[in-house]
Amino acid sequence: MLNGKDKEPCVLCGQPVEITGFSLTTSNGVQKFCCAGCLSIYQLLNEADTKPTITPLLTKKK
Ligand SMILES: [Zn+2]
Repeated sequence: MLNGKDKEPCVLCGQPVEITGFSLTTSNGVQKFCCAGCLSIYQLLNEADTKPTITPLLTKKK
């Protein structure tokens, strides 16, 4: 159980963030991570999420 510590859980894996510095500023605010691995994975997921899913140029092909 948490005991008043201000350690925030890693956004990706939920482990307490022991070391500050692995943070990423997104449109939802600053996300904090426990390690560079979690940060990079989140970046990949976030990048995919921000990509447009609709490609208007390919709607008509025939
Ligand atoms: Zn993590």
